[in-house]
Amino acid sequence: MSKKLEFEQTISLYNDKPSCVSHLECSITGKNDYEAGKIHGLSEAGRPLLVRYNLDTIKNNVTREEIEARPGGFWKYREFLPVENGENVISLGEVMTPLIPLKHSVPNGCDIIVKDEGRLPTGSFKARGLGVAAAMSKELGQTHLAIPTNGNAGAALAAYASFGGLKATAFCPDDTPLVNIREIRLQGADVFTVNGLVSDCIKIVQEGNDKVGWTDYTTLKEPYRIEGKKTMGLELAEQFGWELPDVIFYPTGGGTGFIGMWKAFDELESVGWIGSKRPKMVAVQAANCAPIVKAYEDGVEHATFWENAYTEAWGIRVPAAIGDFLMIRTIRESGGFAIAVDEEDIFKCRDKVSRKDGLLLCPEGATTFAAWQMALKSGQVSSSDKVLLFNTATGLKYPMPETNQPLDKNQPIDYSRFK
Ligand SMILES: *Cc1c(COP(=O)(O)O)cnc(C)c1O
Repeated sequence: MSKKLEFEQTISLYNDKPSCVSHLECSITGKNDYEAGKIHGLSEAGRPLLVRYNLDTIKNNVTREEIEARPGGFWKYREFLPVENGENVISLGEVMTPLIPLKHSVPNGCDIIVKDEGRLPTGSFKARGLGVAAAMSKELGQTHLAIPTNGNAGAALAAYASFGGLKATAFCPDDTPLVNIREIRLQGADVFTVNGLVSDCIKIVQEGNDKVGWTDYTTLKEPYRIEGKKTMGLELAEQFGWELPDVIFYPTGGGTGFIGMWKAFDELESVGWIGSKRPKMVAVQAANCAPIVKAYEDGVEHATFWENAYTEAWGIRVPAAIGDFLMIRTIRESGGFAIAVDEEDIFKCRDKVSRKDGLLLCPEGATTFAAWQMALKSGQVSSSDKVLLFNTATGLKYPMPETNQPLDKNQPIDYSRFK
């Protein structure tokens, strides 16, 4: 099937789409008079807004079987998404990302599955969130989007904004991997490198809100990225036959995916497609940037700013997250936990899974493997648990260890070397 046909099939799903959003709601106060179809940023309380749906409308319009029969990736969950008009859908050939069992890098009998999000457009799961958010900007008439980013979010926004005819401006820490900075530029966005952390980039974007008049695409400051990220939960449920794994390990930065999946599970239960069983949700962070782990261990609702954050798992180098309390709530409600992984361990695990199972994880994905190993050792998970690890981007986008074995074609070759 040609890409064009796939694209047209995706768009045509939206031809007769029922309108399912009822309103938006403040995630901290529950104030729920934020109207659908209007431009919103944060709530009046300065916290993320969550999109609420008429779950009866969803229930009456679509079945699990119909969803399963639809082609393509995350756009097929149209009833659970806020975009109304097919003209606004931006599709770059999304796929349902595969579930890959680990065979040789885990002890016998362990049931460990990786959901490989590196297969999405721009090579990371940021495509889900920013694809849906950019489509909503199109629908709402927002034309210039500004994003603070550790790399992957900027790349995804650049691609989806370009395809959708929107302008995007990205700000990254100046030690973001070059491949990310360059792909952002190549995919049509303006990109600046800032001598600071993503938290400094966030401030720059915020100050520009009035001065430039762009839309602030900081994580959770617009309400639709989380709706896109939510599709990870919908997809998982479908792939697991409308049951969920026992434990999910997720590399947590701003937390949209973590919060989004939890929201998806609630919506699926409300329409009667899954039962009340939930996975334990495990938030994984790097030891040198672990504000959520610290807040969880301290038993508090909000995290404090993590000073001198450093990790080469760039996607989770987030020293402060506006949705911290939502992540912590999710961990607690699910009976899960939070866990920090040493830098060295991240790369040891990346090497192990690549060499033994042929799956090149991104460093963020490798943190989930490292965390699972720690949790197995400490007894927080058991070897009979069905465990899902998220590989949130393709490992190809990250620096890799050097390898250097030149072979001189003009000298006799000693073939015994290759045995
Ligand atoms: C952004 C990012 C994360 C963190 O995701 P959140 O849902 O924002 O917590 C993890 N891994 C990679 C590769 C990322 O780009």
